[in-house]
Amino acid sequence: MRWSKYYIPTLKEAPADAEVTSHRLLVRAGLIRRLTSGIYSYLPMGLRAIAKVENIVREEMNRAGALELLLPAVQPADLWIESGRWEHYGKELLRFRDRHDRYCCLGPTHEEVITDLVRGEVRSYRQLPLTLYQIQTKFRDEIRPRFGLMRGREFIMKDAYSFDADDAGANRSYQAMYEAYKRIFERLALRFRAVEADSGAIGGSFSHEFMVLASTGEDSIVSCTRCDYAANVERAETRPPADKERKTVPAISEALTPDLTTVEQVAEFLKVQAEHIVKTILLEVDGKPLAVLLRGDHELNLIKVKNRLGAASVVLASPEQVREWSGSPVGFAGPVGLQIPLLADYALSSRDGWVCGACKKDAHLLNMSLERDVKPFEFADLRAIAPKDPCPRCGAGLETLRGIEVGHVFKLGLKYSKAMNAVFLDEKGREQWMIMGCYGVGVSRVVAACIEQNHDENGIIFPPPVAPFTVHLVNLDLKSAEVCARVEEIYAFLDAEGLETLLDDRDERAGVKFKDADLTGSPIQLFVGTKGLTRGIVEAKDRRSGAKTELPLDDFVASFRAFKNSVFAGWGLP
Ligand code: ATP
Ligand code: MG
Repeated sequence: MRWSKYYIPTLKEAPADAEVTSHRLLVRAGLIRRLTSGIYSYLPMGLRAIAKVENIVREEMNRAGALELLLPAVQPADLWIESGRWEHYGKELLRFRDRHDRYCCLGPTHEEVITDLVRGEVRSYRQLPLTLYQIQTKFRDEIRPRFGLMRGREFIMKDAYSFDADDAGANRSYQAMYEAYKRIFERLALRFRAVEADSGAIGGSFSHEFMVLASTGEDSIVSCTRCDYAANVERAETRPPADKERKTVPAISEALTPDLTTVEQVAEFLKVQAEHIVKTILLEVDGKPLAVLLRGDHELNLIKVKNRLGAASVVLASPEQVREWSGSPVGFAGPVGLQIPLLADYALSSRDGWVCGACKKDAHLLNMSLERDVKPFEFADLRAIAPKDPCPRCGAGLETLRGIEVGHVFKLGLKYSKAMNAVFLDEKGREQWMIMGCYGVGVSRVVAACIEQNHDENGIIFPPPVAPFTVHLVNLDLKSAEVCARVEEIYAFLDAEGLETLLDDRDERAGVKFKDADLTGSPIQLFVGTKGLTRGIVEAKDRRSGAKTELPLDDFVASFRAFKNSVFAGWGLP
């Protein structure tokens, strides 16, 4: 492609609303333009990058046996009412009425549509398993669309759905998608982690998020420094402590703690460490009271409480509820004498003899023994993992990383097939619900995440598999017939090598061309000019490492191939 015939509107300045690097660079390098909040046009260069990602996704989906189709973007409300999501999906679901006053929505995802399709077609276990996928534009009316392609309202997603006759089959389908996702992100040459995510009611390891590692990522993940355990901090497990400190706890006593309602205040006043204080958090779980006991320096994880109890709603108790259930204002609740159900975090099993609230205004208890002073309760994993916690699998250290969620695989189980009655007949002719899974890749977000991970102060550093063009060939001297002839020769050679090349043939200063080459980020840059030709060389630059090499014209083919291989090797690619 010749730049002069192409459309690459590069900009010197980034738009004012661009808060993150990928957004700034996507606009400046001429890949996207904003139409309105959270909605972007993909310009030719941007579309090329998107297509690169789509093709790899498509190849890996096909390889895993998934079948491509294309579902409508506009969906009737009836299906969403059937699944129960018309009511529960928030304002992200863009709803509208057609001319006949029928309610519709723009698809933010396609579980309803695909379940409706499959229940109408699949009758027998012989037609299963079945995994269908599409690459399509989704619409989610995000409350805060931002960061360009990272969180748009309109975006491109690959979504796949699996249907199985039994649980073992559903797990195999899940595993096949998990492996396909790993191959996708490996082939894209991105540094990523597959992290365990919250699998809600299904439980087990049946939800993984694929995170592209980048310091600017919105998600926090923990990753083991020894084994391959990685998890979203929201979900990361903690284990019961291995050993317990044994000692006789002196008799319980009361201390006055006037107006001291936080762990920090009580710790300072009583001269104890926060980790020797039990904090009692009162919750309303599906309308009923629950007290959760945590070590003073730990944080509650509401999702864990919710999953443990299989509850639909878990919220913090109001000050009135705290007063009613504990007999004391907020800050003084404690487990002794409390008449509501109790759960204690695992960490509390490591020792005994605690400071805790006295269920009485302005008082705390000293030497509280969970075993001796508190009515029967259970220990459970209830807290957010902390940076110093060991890996729950192997006990080694954990590191905290930041990531961008680019993919999500999820076992749905019977959620939609039950609600929408998607059944098949098994071998014995009995009706059974299909077991489903859903699997998404944010195709447009992948391009943004790729740039968040790979850029420098001069611009984008595209990994070869995502780059709109692999080689950026620059003619430094349009007036020289010799240079022009050489450039054409090299351009034809690169084409014959199967390398997509962008030829900068603009009548511009060399400085502008160097800048634009770095900004647009092709992995390999080649510069042909009079000075080089008199010395018998073409200059080559590896955009990633910045390494420059002179390729001798009398051995151009071999030296170029060696250079290209070194660039690809730098990306860990063959
Ligand atoms: P997030 O937590 O980031 O809002 P999600 O968990 O709601 O995403 P899924 O429903 O799992 O997203 O969708 C599958 C994939 O689609 C995500 O992994 C992500 O890569 C992509 N995606 C989701 N929302 C957006 C968006 N607003 N803009 C761009 N890509 C998105
Ligand atoms: Mg997700």
